Amino acid sequence: MAEVIGVIGAGTMGNGIAQVCARAGYGVVMRDVADEFLQRGLAAIERSLQRDVDKARLAEDEKRAIIERIRPTSELNDLSDARFVIEAVNEDAGLKAQIFRALDEITTPDAILASNTSSISITKLGAATRRPDKVIGMHFMNPVPVMKLVEVIRGIATSDETYERTRTLCEQFGKTALECNDAPGFISNRVLMPMINEAIFALYENVATRESIDGIMKLGMNHPMGPLTLADFIGLDVCLAILNVLHTELGDPKYRPCPLLKKYVDAGWLGRKTGRGFYEYGDK
Ligand code: NAD
Repeated sequence: MAEVIGVIGAGTMGNGIAQVCARAGYGVVMRDVADEFLQRGLAAIERSLQRDVDKARLAEDEKRAIIERIRPTSELNDLSDARFVIEAVNEDAGLKAQIFRALDEITTPDAILASNTSSISITKLGAATRRPDKVIGMHFMNPVPVMKLVEVIRGIATSDETYERTRTLCEQFGKTALECNDAPGFISNRVLMPMINEAIFALYENVATRESIDGIMKLGMNHPMGPLTLADFIGLDVCLAILNVLHTELGDPKYRPCPLLKKYVDAGWLGRKTGRGFYEYGDK
């Protein structure tokens, strides 16, 4: 049997991660809390692979083989054989720490425990286990099967061996691993979120319309989409949560979330997923 990778969470990121693991030839045990979430995750994987079949980038039998390598489960104990586990549950520090404690109990001592967190301290997750040297951040980008980058984050105690095993795995996935140390927002969100926040401040202060702000950044800086469109895509609640982490943890007022962002989140205007954010989306 192929070596097994455990994936915790079958949501947006978890099912994408399970897909790239299985496509690289690994057996995958994908865990979520209820069958409904597992089935939704498997359906998303099937749809994503079908797009590649339609574009003749994947054969039908390969698609079936990839899906067969993914075993859905709601039992955490089914991950006990995994030598590498990637956690992708909701961005909740308490929940993640609890999962890392449980994984530390059930997996073999040499198993690496990785988290796909966008902002939670890898050092803290490591401290929830008796193997902080084997805990690492593996920050995939959305959509996982498409995006090339994995930001690999070393906690204070992460060993060189753990980093090397993680980097090798990223290569097997066809991804590029880029390394950074553990700090709030890592590199990606520490640089991206202040830009998005500044675009929201510009809108709030009526410096320009949403279309102008996005158009200037898109055409002028060659960004594939403007910052307000990108914020709608990421989710305004997610943007606010990350800015709050940067603001609280780094203690610098330059990370203060724009009041307009808070107001939109209070209104339930969370972006694409709710049909309204800085733009309106008729398909929701
Ligand atoms: P999501 O809400 O789509 O999925 C989370 C899943 O975790 C849900 O299916 C939920 O049922 C499941 N879950 C909750 N508790 C669980 C438990 N105890 N065991 C197993 N499964 C459990 O969230 P997402 O967007 O996939 O985000 C997951 C992680 O990835 C977060 O840490 C987030 O910050 C990070 N992330 C998200 C993005 C993004 O663009 N969505 C990008 C990079 C990183």
